[in-house]
Amino acid sequence: MSRILVLYTGGTIGMDHTPDGLAPVPGLLPRLLQRFVRPGLEFDVVEFEQLIDSSVLVPSQWNQIIDALAPRYDAYDGFVVIHGTDTMAYTASVLAFALQGWKKPVVLTGAQLPLVHPRSDGWANLADALEAACQPDLHEVAVAFDRLLLRGCRARKLDVECFAGFNSPNDLPLAEFAIHAHWHKPRWLPGEGERRAQRVDENLKLAALMLTPGHGSALAGQVLQREGLDGAILLCYGSGNAPADPALLAGVAAMTARGCPVLTLTQVARGGVEVGAYAASQPLARAGALPGADLTPEAALAKLQVLLSAGLAWPELAAGLVRPLRGELSA
Ligand code: ASP
Repeated sequence: MSRILVLYTGGTIGMDHTPDGLAPVPGLLPRLLQRFVRPGLEFDVVEFEQLIDSSVLVPSQWNQIIDALAPRYDAYDGFVVIHGTDTMAYTASVLAFALQGWKKPVVLTGAQLPLVHPRSDGWANLADALEAACQPDLHEVAVAFDRLLLRGCRARKLDVECFAGFNSPNDLPLAEFAIHAHWHKPRWLPGEGERRAQRVDENLKLAALMLTPGHGSALAGQVLQREGLDGAILLCYGSGNAPADPALLAGVAAMTARGCPVLTLTQVARGGVEVGAYAASQPLARAGALPGADLTPEAALAKLQVLLSAGLAWPELAAGLVRPLRGELSA
């Protein structure tokens, strides 16, 4: 017998048509979920008091999720978090870093089409998420979507049209669902360490800046020089290349001097930063930027959010950001 807690935060999957367009409807999803009642599976459903379209997500809702799951850790074998797809990769990444040492599955899912739509993909996603949440060896945060189980801190929303809305461009799936469920257990994390639930600091100011030819690097530099920014990711070209723009380098140096990390990532869909592959990657590194390897932007921001919330300071902060903590980057 598996006991699962299902937390519904909002999102398309539980939406219905309203005069303003699609919106989450309280009570609809718990009612529809009764279809999954079967011998050997017991689940309780908890709904956010205020269901959201995940495009309006703010850090306090990450704390709401953490506060809903953490006190129930002992009462359940696994957790399913139903979430809108727009920011699901951010939430999956935050939970991956925030729920340390958890030896139970936390599986996020949602849908491209609401369950009330005759062709909804939500039924299959829910079925797979529930099955994954019953796996006692799965000790990580994952995303179940379109027959794939992805590591949460590797997942990205990559398609707004197809049912294959998510993938993990720099990592293989944790499971694939066909007639049989193919659990790729050698890829699963061992689930080590003491159990913690790190709430996030809701006031952190993090920036995501993308370099573009022309004025882009100078503008990014100006943002970095602004007081009050706690951390930033810089989406560079190729394997971490950027122009040696004095404003950009001054911005990175100013952030670093204040102990506020700037992580360099690639803006390319696959692969990562490799400092030194090109000379053009060196000035940023010399100014103090930390190479984010093949972190996704969502995972990089989540990592900044959680490590800064935990009060880590230089040099532990810098060391933690560049090494894999939850399988989020290739060392
Ligand atoms: N806007 C919706 C949301 O993120 C999209 C979805 O759920 O697919 O809540």
